[in-house]
Amino acid sequence: MALEDNFRKVTPYVPGEQPKIPNLIKLNTNENPYPPAPGVRDALLKLAEDPSVLRKYPAPDCEILEEAIADYYGISRDRLFVGVGSDDVLSMAFLTFFNSKKPVLFPDITYSFYDVWAEVYGIPYKQIPLDENFEIRAEDYRMENGGIVIANPNAPTGVAKPKAWMEDFLKEHTDTVVIVDEAYVDFGAESVIDLIDKYENLLVVQTFSKSRSMAGMRIGMAFGSKLLIKYLKDVKFSVNSYTMNTTSLLLGVEAIRDDAYFREKVQAVIATRERVKLQLKSLGFVFRDSKTNFIFASHPAMDASEIMKKLRERGIIVRHFSKPRIDQYLRISIGTDAEMDELIKALAEILHR
Ligand SMILES: *Cc1c(COP(=O)(O)O)cnc(C)c1O
Repeated sequence: MALEDNFRKVTPYVPGEQPKIPNLIKLNTNENPYPPAPGVRDALLKLAEDPSVLRKYPAPDCEILEEAIADYYGISRDRLFVGVGSDDVLSMAFLTFFNSKKPVLFPDITYSFYDVWAEVYGIPYKQIPLDENFEIRAEDYRMENGGIVIANPNAPTGVAKPKAWMEDFLKEHTDTVVIVDEAYVDFGAESVIDLIDKYENLLVVQTFSKSRSMAGMRIGMAFGSKLLIKYLKDVKFSVNSYTMNTTSLLLGVEAIRDDAYFREKVQAVIATRERVKLQLKSLGFVFRDSKTNFIFASHPAMDASEIMKKLRERGIIVRHFSKPRIDQYLRISIGTDAEMDELIKALAEILHR
């Protein structure tokens, strides 16, 4: 018998690369091009002056951060869960709520971590094809299931469903947990947070990584009924009591408090995105409308991996997925105006326009 015969074997999720190339224009992981709120810097400086607080374990109940988030969204703390990025929150939610022999349903083209978590936890799942316009068809989900996961807006397509559609969908699925992953919702889509009182089985997941410029800090959260949050917290405390470190708790509070800064930067990303849409269109790119901080685009005259390669030679990186149905698309994150000008210039050169 070989040592690894009884090991758990999984094919891991592959995150976008973080290369150490100087002056790189990095448009491959949907990071926010703007720094976190100024209060985050002040809180870091304060911590640097007196780091003795790091001697102690962090608050296992994440009190200060939960209070700040609960206050911002006007909900009680017993309907809120925070974790180490929404990846941690989603992973805990899969472990907690998907414990059935029936398959968990999610689209074939969506965040590619969902099937990885299903595999690592041994959860049966079924990927439901999006239609040819990358739209979810509600009728395809009408089957017995162990739960449903919908990213809204979806990634990497950028396509968003309106709130009314989401509510109709929720009305059809009240027997199992429906997770709505709203990682990009702040960039112009509609949240279903205010439906958590109406649908006890709804878990809404959001993150500080994109709209709040804190991907490096790892803060994510879930909103749901008291019932869901209780079970989620029970599982978290059965795995690791101290998921959130003291620095994340302190800096997260500052990031959520500064609403004016948040709105200003989200608006800046949206304005850049809308301009870039027009420029990509005039270069001949085709894409579904995006309500996120990225555009998922294809060019009828040039192979996507070829475009990606040529952009890279010019110091610009974007994301490409070598997967059926989407291998002719590039996912281009929205950077600063200056970065996007460089991108458009490079694309015009590559396409000889
Ligand atoms: C970025 C992303 C996440 C994970 O974000 P965290 O950095 O872990 O908070 C989750 N879901 C989707 C769809 C994403 O794009």
